[in-house]
Amino acid sequence: MNKIETILDYLKRNFSEHIYSGDKFKLLISTVLSQRTRDETTERVSKELFEKAETPQEFVDLDVKEIERTIKPIGFYHNKAKYIKEISKELVGKKVPDTLKELTKLPGIGRKTANIVLSYGFGKSTVAVDTHVERVSKRIGLVGKDKSVYDVEKKLEELFPKEYWRLINLGLVRFGKTICKPRNPLCNKCNFSSFCEYYKEVRQ
Ligand code: SF4
Repeated sequence: MNKIETILDYLKRNFSEHIYSGDKFKLLISTVLSQRTRDETTERVSKELFEKAETPQEFVDLDVKEIERTIKPIGFYHNKAKYIKEISKELVGKKVPDTLKELTKLPGIGRKTANIVLSYGFGKSTVAVDTHVERVSKRIGLVGKDKSVYDVEKKLEELFPKEYWRLINLGLVRFGKTICKPRNPLCNKCNFSSFCEYYKEVRQ
């Protein structure tokens, strides 16, 4: 197997695709909260926040200070509270958009957040590149170290069949948190060390 086949084989054996069956507006808000925040904190704070408001109209009616107080344990809470208010205003009486173009028109929504919502919320074939996907892709050598997040997204789209694009985020995020960790990657437990550029350069 070549390296792409090996990575795909690993992803297919260890992860299964799923589509979030809950409310897409809440998924969008949780994804905004999750940026640069630990999963456990996002989960806890999202739950607390949705006890106070669940729909765009309810968020419009909620004082921004109350949103800030509730999401304070989260990074960049001040900006995120502002974006949550603005997104809610845009979405009163509307559905969460299901295209990259429309989603990225919403305040504070970049490609990564939009791709996550499209993939997990709508089951669309997208490559959502977060910090883990970017780090792992660069360490393995799938894409050059100096490339932008956008370049990583496009390169992964080129390298992997479209039917598996959703699996890339799902699998590499988990892989990046448990094996290819930011500070201390567990290369001795990794299936990719035979072709990983980082392993060749740093660990051998
Ligand atoms: Fe990450 Fe090490 Fe595996 Fe390379 S060999 S992908 S650096 S864990």
